[in-house]
Amino acid sequence: VFKTLFHTGLMTTAMLIISPAVHAETGLENKIDKDYSYLEGLYTHLHQNPELSFFETKTAERLASELADLGFIVTEEVGKTGIVGVMENGEGPTILVRTDLDALPVPEQTGLSYASQVIATGVDGTTSPVMHACGHDVHMTVWTGVARQLASMKDKWQGTLVMIGQPAEERGSGARLMLNDGLYERFPKPDYNLALHVNSALPAGKIAYSKGYALANVDSVDITVQGIGGHGAYPNTTKDPVVLASQIVVALQTLVSREISPLDPGVVTVGSFHGGSKHNIISDEVKLQLTVRSYDDDVRDKLLNGIKRIAKGQAISAGLSEDKYPIVKIKDERTPSTFNTPSLVDRALPSLASAVGNENLIEVDPVMGGEDFSEYGRTADKIPSFIFWLGAVNEEVYAQSLSQGTALPSLHSPFFAPDPEPTIKTGVNAMTETVLGLFNAP
Ligand SMILES: [Zn+2]
Ligand SMILES: [Zn+2]
Repeated sequence: VFKTLFHTGLMTTAMLIISPAVHAETGLENKIDKDYSYLEGLYTHLHQNPELSFFETKTAERLASELADLGFIVTEEVGKTGIVGVMENGEGPTILVRTDLDALPVPEQTGLSYASQVIATGVDGTTSPVMHACGHDVHMTVWTGVARQLASMKDKWQGTLVMIGQPAEERGSGARLMLNDGLYERFPKPDYNLALHVNSALPAGKIAYSKGYALANVDSVDITVQGIGGHGAYPNTTKDPVVLASQIVVALQTLVSREISPLDPGVVTVGSFHGGSKHNIISDEVKLQLTVRSYDDDVRDKLLNGIKRIAKGQAISAGLSEDKYPIVKIKDERTPSTFNTPSLVDRALPSLASAVGNENLIEVDPVMGGEDFSEYGRTADKIPSFIFWLGAVNEEVYAQSLSQGTALPSLHSPFFAPDPEPTIKTGVNAMTETVLGLFNAP
């Protein structure tokens, strides 16, 4: 769901000096090197067989069998196509590690030998080429690698490991479905939730994180602006919805600039404006599509209520009667903002530093993209949760983009091509260290 997320390159970077965790002598890096050929095979398979949101059945089946082979107790069809694997290993905290499963209706143009050729039909009935353009194939491979490492060193940790494969992240509803299907009731309730997401503007080998807000509230709003149509030559006999919709678009600009605090981030973008059919016809309807972003839930309410008020107010000003007021619909498919629990981030940082080194661990500003990982930390239990960024860009490609000033392909781009080996190895190392650090914390 990130779209242009990190496209603008690395934002503010504050280097922190964090002393690496005194970690058990696990020889983790060597073990990950030895396991890589297996993970590479899995990655290639997943990349070539992407499935759209809510159709991740073969993907879920494959991951379920990966976990079952390692000794996890696996339950399938949690939240439609989701899976949950549980490994109990003595007294200790319960840690949940989440991957998403779904791909996107994007025609792959990376030119890779293992590029996706899949064409499929999504929940909206549209048939199109499918690609793992958001890197969820990397997430699944890393997640499997983490499960393999932790299962192979049960003498090095104590507690309960809950590995979940979540459907439909791209539709912003998979996490909620798994929670509504009893994720926290039917399975051991986690003390911590962890996840990672590839980053299309960060070189492989690096990890970035935000403490506190990391990703935004993402809402979609549809406005149907009604008017009274007629002949273009006789505007006085009509109520022109194109003029009215234009005034609404301009008035909406005051929401962020005049109504919310300058210290609170917010975005109101009208991404689509459709009305009319011909030069000389005044139509009776214009359709607007908006994306609305914020971090704070009060700001979100202010923006959404403001949109309703402005749309109605402009219609009144145009002299329309109540039955012709704009119809404002806030879509159910939304992603709430992601908050990385500061105390958990603080506890995870030494492990991340020990995995990648201080010089490769970067604090970054939050972004206005969305991730439904947020849902896991937003239930009444307020379970501490943390998602971090995994660099995925080939180092040479990254250096070239810097020297030539060219943009790197963003997430969701048909050209997005992560550098598998260093990305996956770093991901497995960073997440395994983090989980071990939390299991072994005094
Ligand atoms: Zn995405
Ligand atoms: Zn994603």
